[in-house]
Amino acid sequence: MAEEKVRKTRASGLPRLVMPEQNPVRRATNFEEVPYGISLEVAMDEASRCLRCPKPRCVSACPVNINIPQFIAEIAEGNPQGAAEKLKTQTALPAVCGRVCPQELQCEGSCVLGLRGQPVAIGTLERFAADYVRQNNLEKLPEKAAPTGKRVAVIGCGPAGITAAADLAIAGHEVEVFEALHLPGGVLMYGIPQFRLPKEIVAHEVEQLKKLGVKIHLNYLIGKLESVDQLMREGFDAVFIGSGAGLPMFLGIPGENSVGVFSANEFLTRFNLMKAYDFPNHATTPIHAKHIITVGGGNVAMDSSRTALRIGAKSTLVYRRAREQMPARKEEVHHAEQEGVNLQLLTNPKRVIADENGKVVALECVKMELGEPDESGRRSVTEIPGSEFQIPCDAIVVSIGNRPNPLIPMTCKSLSTTRKGTLEVDPETLQTSMAGVFAGGDVVSGAATVISAMGQAKKAASNINKYLRGEPLKDEAAPSAL
Ligand code: FAD
Ligand code: SF4
Repeated sequence: MAEEKVRKTRASGLPRLVMPEQNPVRRATNFEEVPYGISLEVAMDEASRCLRCPKPRCVSACPVNINIPQFIAEIAEGNPQGAAEKLKTQTALPAVCGRVCPQELQCEGSCVLGLRGQPVAIGTLERFAADYVRQNNLEKLPEKAAPTGKRVAVIGCGPAGITAAADLAIAGHEVEVFEALHLPGGVLMYGIPQFRLPKEIVAHEVEQLKKLGVKIHLNYLIGKLESVDQLMREGFDAVFIGSGAGLPMFLGIPGENSVGVFSANEFLTRFNLMKAYDFPNHATTPIHAKHIITVGGGNVAMDSSRTALRIGAKSTLVYRRAREQMPARKEEVHHAEQEGVNLQLLTNPKRVIADENGKVVALECVKMELGEPDESGRRSVTEIPGSEFQIPCDAIVVSIGNRPNPLIPMTCKSLSTTRKGTLEVDPETLQTSMAGVFAGGDVVSGAATVISAMGQAKKAASNINKYLRGEPLKDEAAPSAL
């Protein structure tokens, strides 16, 4: 009993585990990963803080309910391989989620130790276990069920597509993935920069998928080369759509068509996928700008503004609301500021000013002030009249959100969409309006998170299995969720 008390006191009194990381001045000039990771000794020490709560709040706060105390216990006992194996039964991409999940809003935000002290560094431990087995070649492929003779097409090779394809291959189906880009990985490859998520990790996960027997067709745009109906006519027994939300939204302000205004998607794709910083070794022209303004306050905006620094530009971020309302992970905002991104909060763009050649020279903005909270508790913002001012710049990156590309539903009339352009699905089964066609990830939820895309993909894959076995997708007695 006394021992348990000592353990609890020690667990809550310890400072937050801080991962060693690159010096901010140096890292703002390179694309290498920022945090270095931790040793087995440090991981075991941190894992031993976990109280193994009988009703773990961290598990209910995880969108896919990973059994967190279970994998942490393995690390505490010096068995990172056991931890990684436990993780792999519930998440296809632990090395990715450990790095990019908004843990402060999910598992770590609910850890009881956070009530009076510092939560267990769950994300860091997840990353540690996944990195350990990858770096030491200790990963085991999951066992596959006997072949079912069924064929499943997966559209899109982002986190949703990778997760669904892996689960369906393990269930014994023949799985083919159709990916529009020339590299697999979705946003993990073209959006999130190397300094936050090394591409070797994504490539490794895709290799694991191939080892499970999944065939990946690259440069294969569904809706142009063939439609979803055609895939079904060609002999696929089911289809999973995980095509994400890759259509950028713009501000709709005067001058936005000027030369030098980019969507965050284009800006990040040029550097992450096309390696524009390594011109002419890679054939994408770099963007030469001295001062880049990024508009937005989410993770995408943080990635763009930090990339701007790394290509040698001065970087300013303009966000219409206050710091507390920024949707980005706290760690990203902290890293961006440390590296030298200048945050202009409560500032809203009004028009883009261009020179006689149509090239951006400034962004006109207006100052905003916080109003009273609305019904949802969110404080509104209103313009301060007469507070307009200009920020000189030579490039602007618009990073205010994305919607799904309409190509797939436009070329397959049986697929219904919502008013927001997302695919309409039964929330319980994730089956679309077309029998045998399921969907998950950003194409269903709108731009969200990696873990939510994976969670939906797992649910859809499990329902595809039922569908292929000819079982009812819903319990007949249960009331419909629709
Ligand atoms: P995607 O990752 O978009 O993958 C969809 C794939 O489908 C793409 O490869 C696309 O090329 C392909 N595709 C599209 N249309 C077709 C077609 N017609 N035919 C064939 N293939 C097609 N989330 C977090 O949790 N944490 C973060 O820190 C974070 N940071 C982010 C930073 C950036 C820059 C961006 C853009 C997003 C970030 N997100 C983050 C969100 C997260 O990446 C997405 O929610 C997640 O990737 C969605 O997964 P998905 O598989 O549904 O879609
Ligand atoms: Fe461990 Fe915190 Fe989860 Fe409790 S809530 S099981 S202490 S990680």
